Amino acid sequence: MTNLTIDAAGATDTGLVRATNEDHHLIGAGLFAVADGMGGAANGQVASRLATETLQRAFSAEPTASGLVAAVRQANEAIRDRAGNEPDQPPFGTTIGAVARVGGPDDERFVTVNVGDTRIYLLRDGQLTQLSSDHSRVADLVRAGEITASEAAEHPERHVLTSALGVVDAVAPAVNHVRPEPGDRLILCSDGLFNELTEEAIAATAARHDDLDRAARDLIDQAKASGGADNITVVLVEVT
Ligand code: MG
Repeated sequence: MTNLTIDAAGATDTGLVRATNEDHHLIGAGLFAVADGMGGAANGQVASRLATETLQRAFSAEPTASGLVAAVRQANEAIRDRAGNEPDQPPFGTTIGAVARVGGPDDERFVTVNVGDTRIYLLRDGQLTQLSSDHSRVADLVRAGEITASEAAEHPERHVLTSALGVVDAVAPAVNHVRPEPGDRLILCSDGLFNELTEEAIAATAARHDDLDRAARDLIDQAKASGGADNITVVLVEVT
């Protein structure tokens, strides 16, 4: 990847139903993330911001694949510490999906991590591949062969998570790696995007615009046109 250039753009929107935006995203030096907070009052916003801030600080101290996983664990602990300081508040937490550029000249790659259902897709040659693994009830059912992916998209329990930062003692982040190729686009998004749009629509829209800002904005506009029931956040990363 030595001769490859990375560009990124992001956008977030409250959507059409929620009163506040509890998503948070990060576009850093070789580090990109989307977090979707949950909890009463402003706690979801606190959790998602604390997650991305802790991730950035911890990863910059150890900018490796294992450093990224360790940074996710630190983010979990930071949120748990904060929640522990406010015992009268209901529990709060956040999902996280992050991509980092790691490795040396001979083995540069993207490493992805996620906890919860923030998704990371690779768009390559018009094909969309999910690199992240949802920690959700319906994803477990799909993996067990009990329902199909399209049934999961309409399932009444599709919002039920099986893990998130801040709500469990120890997280087990899902990890993946991909060797970048020129023309690749990575799409990080909160569930407010993929619960409104099919993967075909996400792929087509992400590929439609040369300009990453316009692509991110178009994805959000389409999610709102489809209902905008949740906060919507998109980060696009392009390899050229
Ligand atoms: Mg959401």
